Amino acid sequence: MKILPSLFSPAGKNAKLSIVIYHRVLPEPDLLTGEGGIAQFEKGLSYLVNNFNVLPLSEAVNRLRSGTLPARAACITFDDGYADNAETALPILQKHGITATFFIASGFLDGGRMWNDTVIESVRLARGDRLDLSSIDLGNHAITTLEQRQATLNRLIGKLKYQSHATRSELVEKLSTIIAARLPDNLMMTSAQVKQLHEAGMEIGGHTLTHPILASIDDAAARTEIAEGKAKLEAIIGTPLRLFAYPNGKPGKDYLSAHVEMVKDAGFEAAVSTAWGAARQDSDKFQLPRFTPWDKSEWRYVLRMVQNMRQRIQTV
Ligand SMILES: [Zn+2]
Repeated sequence: MKILPSLFSPAGKNAKLSIVIYHRVLPEPDLLTGEGGIAQFEKGLSYLVNNFNVLPLSEAVNRLRSGTLPARAACITFDDGYADNAETALPILQKHGITATFFIASGFLDGGRMWNDTVIESVRLARGDRLDLSSIDLGNHAITTLEQRQATLNRLIGKLKYQSHATRSELVEKLSTIIAARLPDNLMMTSAQVKQLHEAGMEIGGHTLTHPILASIDDAAARTEIAEGKAKLEAIIGTPLRLFAYPNGKPGKDYLSAHVEMVKDAGFEAAVSTAWGAARQDSDKFQLPRFTPWDKSEWRYVLRMVQNMRQRIQTV
């Protein structure tokens, strides 16, 4: 099927760069969140390797600039810094000889947990038929069936996502107190795992310290998040970070043009968003688009990647 992507993604000056984005790679699919497991990850990866030339993101950015990308160029990235990336994904990447980039929110290393995971694990572990959160204005939810738990989770994430950092932290803290279950503290990587990925030849990229939506915090805080997130990872791996991923990553919604400047000022050489599309030579290197095909058959997967190459790219 290589011929199909080649038509839309030739080598050289007209090349297009597809960057695939992953978060967790679980040993088994998660029915509550709908996240696929290792089998689905491995399948997608083999479709990618069969049909595309997968290269490290920093090399791809250089070659995009100089117009020397191979045909069907693609990169693989992981966001947030989940421990399963090191435990589950790394051996599969190594088996395929792939260098991926891991964008890590370094404030959660060594036992931290992102707020959305606190909500997910709380809804997963809540006992009984109802989850009554009316005391903190988050509703009273039926949780008897899996579907009801899924709907509850989606409602809670939707309500909490764009709250201010302080309000959200307080609500999430209270939520976990109401659930009164022991939540996992091993979801995110340890510093040793970051080092392990780096020593295995993988790329480490910045993703702020605590994963705030940059557009919703003030400029001084955003600058600190970007710079300190970077410094902490550099102290672990002992080498400068070149790449950055905006938390959540929707242009104009999650980050603004001021944040693009901050990322440049912090010394990064390129950055990725979560806008769909494939980058071209004239694309903004500080707002490279990313995409994840979800199809379970190879030809549909490839077709989805080709459709994505034809997307108009959103930037700020
Ligand atoms: Zn993220």
